[in-house]
Parts: sequence; C-alpha cells; structure tokens
Amino acid sequence: MNPRYLLAASLFLTACGGGGGGSGDSAGSAIPTAPASVAASCQQQAVIGAAANDGLRIARVSWLQVIDQLADDQAMLVAEKATRLRVDVVADSLRNAPARRELRIQDPATGECTLLSMNGTSRVPTRVDETTLANSFVVDIPPTLMKSGTRFSLLFDDASGRSETESALVKRSLAPRITAAVRETLYVVPVSLGGRTGYAPGDSAQLAGLLTRLHPVSAVNIIQTAPFTPSGILSAAATALGNGLNFNGTLSDMQSLLNAVDDYCQTLAQGNRAALSPKCLGVFPDQLLFRPAGSTNSLYTGLAFVGGITMVTQSFNRVDVMSVSSPYLSSHWIDDRALTVAHEYGHLLDLDHAACGGATGTDPRLYGDGRLNAGSGFDAVRGVFFSAAGRTSEFADLMSYCGKEWTSDRGYLASLNYRSGARVASRETGGSANWVKLTPTETGWRLTPVAFPPATLETSDAMVTLHSASGAEDMAPQQAVISDSTEPENRPLYLNFGAREMTQLVIHAHGKRREQRWTPMDWLRTGG
Ligand SMILES: [Zn+2]
Repeated sequence: MNPRYLLAASLFLTACGGGGGGSGDSAGSAIPTAPASVAASCQQQAVIGAAANDGLRIARVSWLQVIDQLADDQAMLVAEKATRLRVDVVADSLRNAPARRELRIQDPATGECTLLSMNGTSRVPTRVDETTLANSFVVDIPPTLMKSGTRFSLLFDDASGRSETESALVKRSLAPRITAAVRETLYVVPVSLGGRTGYAPGDSAQLAGLLTRLHPVSAVNIIQTAPFTPSGILSAAATALGNGLNFNGTLSDMQSLLNAVDDYCQTLAQGNRAALSPKCLGVFPDQLLFRPAGSTNSLYTGLAFVGGITMVTQSFNRVDVMSVSSPYLSSHWIDDRALTVAHEYGHLLDLDHAACGGATGTDPRLYGDGRLNAGSGFDAVRGVFFSAAGRTSEFADLMSYCGKEWTSDRGYLASLNYRSGARVASRETGGSANWVKLTPTETGWRLTPVAFPPATLETSDAMVTLHSASGAEDMAPQQAVISDSTEPENRPLYLNFGAREMTQLVIHAHGKRREQRWTPMDWLRTGG
C-alpha cells in the first residue's frame, strides 16, 4: 500500500460553501457568452459538388483540458490554458483521411481568424473509439487563443467536395464557455528545524506544470521564500534533528506545523477571499516524520485546509517520473510526493475527498466510488492521453487514496467554479468583516488577525464570550476543515467580530474548560 493512502480519515461535511457541483447552475455572470455567429472571415468555405456517398461525418468532438469534455453546452474551459481539440470523424467504410482538416479560431475582440490544420490519423475509421486518440484528429490550441468568447469552426472534406446535405455533416461550429484565465501565486516555504530544511524542485516551470496539468489553473507564479523556522512548536523535533536524528511526530504535531505555516502565509495574503489569494506550500525536512499513533511504517505525507490557502507536504525533488512512459503502466508517471502536493492543492481549491481507499470526509460532488466514471485524462505537460474506460479499477480521483490518480471531470468543474470566482459564498461578501484566527497551542490559544478565513468552515463546540464597549456577547466561532485529519482539537477556530471594539475574549472549547482572556495589548503583541 502506498503510505499516502494511509493519510487517513477526515470527517466533515464537505464544503459548506460547496453546494452544486458541475457546471450547470453556478456558472453565473462571470462566464461571458460567445457572440452569436461566426464572422464572415472565419466561415468555412465548403466545396459543394456531386454527392460523395461515403458517409463521411463528424461523429464526436471533445475538449482535452486536463479532462475530456464533450463539446456540448455543459463543457467549461479555462482561458490561456493548454487545450487539445479532439475530433472523431467516421465514414461508412475505412478510407483515407480527407485532405481538408481545418480548424478556424476567431478572436472575440478583433474578429481575427487563425487557421490551423488538424493532425492525427491517416485513416478514417467506421466507428469512434473513445479510449484512444489513435484514430482521431487532434490539434493543440495555443493557450493565447483560448479566450472568453473565442469561437471555433471545423471542416473536414476532400478537395472535390460533396453535396450540400453531406457537407453539413462535416462542418461544426463551437462556442464553448471559457472562463477568464486563472492565475495562481504559490509561495514555496522550506520549513527549517534543527538545521534541517525542506526542499522542492528549484525549477519553477516544473512546479507550475504539476498544478496546471491537474487543475483548472492557467498559470502558476512560483515564489520560493527563505527558510521558515516555526517558533514555539516542535521543539523536541528541532532538538532531535539538530542531533542528526529523525523525529517521529504525531498528527497533532503536523497540524501545529500547518497552523504555523498558515500564520506565516496570512502575512503574504492578498484580498479578502481565500480562493483568489496567494497560496503557500510548506515542505518539511525528510528527518521529520509524522505517523499515526502506534505505527512505525505509515506516514502522513500532506495536510491542507479545505478552501484555505496553506498546505504542508513532505519535501520532493522531482515531478515527473520519466522512466514511466505510459499511463497504463502500473506505477504513476508523476512522482508520488509531487502527486501529494497536487492532492493537497485540490483541498485548497475547496475539494474534499473522493470515496476510495478509505478516504473519509467525502465530497458529495465527486463520484460515489471515488473514481473517474470511465472518463479520460489529458496530461498537457507529457502530452499523454488516457482512458479509464474498461480500466475503472486502475485509475481513481486525485482526491481519493486509490490507484493511479487523475482529476475527475466533476472535480475539475467544481474546483473551476470555486477558483474562477463564479461562486461567491455569502459570508465572503459582508461589509465590516474582522476575522480573528484562534489557534490552539500547548499553553493556550494564539490570537491572529487574518484577512479572511478559509472558504469552508464548519460548526464547532466552542463558545466565545466577546467583551466590547457594548457589553458581553456570546458568539460561536467556526472551525477550519483540515483534510486528512481526525483531530478536531488542534484545528483553528475563526471568529468574525465585525465592527465591535473588542476588549476581551474568553474562549470555552473542546470540553476542556480552557479559558483565555485577551486584552487589546495581547492583540498588539500578536501582531494585529
Ligand atoms: Zn486529502
């Protein structure tokens, strides 16, 4: 068993903000509609002649952008992102590929037309085989031509043409929904303890490619930070690592690390929404191991806030496993530690788990068996296409703990809705939001002012009494959802105290009767 799959058990209701998956109801006004018609300059000029009587026709058109989406009303794509158009043309009998295999791309702003030739098979088959591109026509669309409102038109024909009726079957106009480009900023934060420091590939393009090939983001700006030494936690680990030893930490220790990196990440945050703010990846040193209680061979390898901005994972030094030359070999063509980063980033895109391999905290928007629904995947970095049809136990959702993982179509569309800003949770729009993060520590609670909470929060059993000029008021803070974690005790709480002039907080949480008072001086001391 892959140790990551032991990551274990989270709980939770997914995504409080997570209702409505897919592309249907939530596309909203952020998705511009395409113009109503193809400009004259971009119209296909079919040759009308004698009937060819060969049955040549376009049988299937789909977009390969991470996943394979039929080119219909449900499809949703991201601008400025590597996209391959797939066209399956069939005929009544096996024949040579038609000479004209034209794709015209019409710029929505200028109307300018770009003509590309479709490549692929030299033979036209008699039926569509969705599991391979070998019999299809394909073209890689330059990301700069993928814009909201871009229109596409296709024509396949022989030079001699065909009858009017037949010609209608070899033409197709496409006006897909394309969201604005999604540009992510990711700070890579090497965690340093006892002189040991975490690491990630120094090649930013490699790191960016890990996320763009699996998620609905167009580009990732990678920023490496100086080593980050968490203070006030993991002191025993620092001592052990300083003495050249490994340290076996608990899940609770790992959550403390996540909380500390998240406090740091909040100082880099921008705007008032987690979805659109820069994100942080804390990579911890190899000598720091987090294990389930009593285990000597299982590891927790990654942790993240669902709908938050911070994840922590094991260090890694590569993304691609170049020796794996096919997606159908038994091991993944992406390094397992890198895949963990992509999985945790999925949590930052507000996804919870797909139910496979013991993953809990399942996201109802994903497939019930945690797999890919026999769908296909396209890795734009490796140029690799695969189909899970007939191989349903071989591939699984990136958000599961099973099998070779890829993004499911449901996960892709749900995270695209979240990240593209089409969905705005009501709590993110309020007027005077003043959020404070309450982090449990060994000695009490750490109070940190934050620009925003994670997009997904859940109710907790904690109560807070807030004192202000207008008196004492009981309030219920909400709790972060940390994927892969079964320990609610160590998760931070979030409280929006709005416009109140807070003078003191008393917190009762987790049945521990733990209370702590704050004054404005404490606030200043914690950097507020
Ligand atoms: Zn997870």
